[in-house]
Amino acid sequence: MLKIENVSVKNGEKVILENFTLEIKPGEIHALMGQNGAGKSTIAKVLLRDAHYDVSGSISFHDKNLLLMNTTEVAREGIFLVMQNPIEIAGVTNAEVLRTALNDRGMTTGNILEFNRELTEHCKRLELPTSFIHRDINYNMSGGEKKKNALLHLWMLKPNFLILDEIDSGLDVDSLKKVSHSLLEYYETYHPIILVITHQKTLLDILKPQFVHILQDKHIAKSGDFSLAEQIFKEGFGASTMRGGEKNE
Ligand code: ADP
Ligand code: MG
Repeated sequence: MLKIENVSVKNGEKVILENFTLEIKPGEIHALMGQNGAGKSTIAKVLLRDAHYDVSGSISFHDKNLLLMNTTEVAREGIFLVMQNPIEIAGVTNAEVLRTALNDRGMTTGNILEFNRELTEHCKRLELPTSFIHRDINYNMSGGEKKKNALLHLWMLKPNFLILDEIDSGLDVDSLKKVSHSLLEYYETYHPIILVITHQKTLLDILKPQFVHILQDKHIAKSGDFSLAEQIFKEGFGASTMRGGEKNE
């Protein structure tokens, strides 16, 4: 269970979020939508304890105070962010970082053959060349390859809370379908909490979030079921929030 209550976020003097409240119960998929610059990536980064932001209010995950944790501790809780713009880390390979992370969490048997077999299998299923196992993280990868590389990490690390920040950006139509179906399969296998940030109909049509929220004016201005996303796709953000808000029609 994730509980974000009355969270305000500042960067220096700039207030990015104010009174942001959101609750996600185990096994639920929630979509967060909103115009560019609304603060969607900011809340994702705040959850991962990006040190650039001053945060007030409270955030808990399974009753643990997330605001007392650093990024490493948050990751150990099983929270996993696919960044909108994944960073390249030259000199550290996928295999190295995954082995280290799995060891840190006590999730490996220590058997390198078994580890390689699992990585190879996930590469094949994601249609990534097995050379990716020993590629530097995201280094010189195309936009789409970076997103698939994140899925490789996802399947290996098996997080229980997944934040997808515009995972669709940089993906062509076929790759987007592939990635969306892989995410759905992950959800059906492990039943994680998912917070999906997107403007993309294809991804939402496949993942079918049970709850949809619109971020506007620094907080969640409207929430609904999947039909709210369909309304946004048809009419845009202006119409949807006016109808649910305080403005006269
Ligand atoms: P979205 O993901 O919804 O497009 P962002 O969360 O990236 O929006 O950004 C929300 C607003 O906060 C933007 O005006 C952006 O410029 C600002 N912002 C976000 N992070 C920072 C930061 N680290 N420093 C300064 N401004 C920031
Ligand atoms: Mg963003």
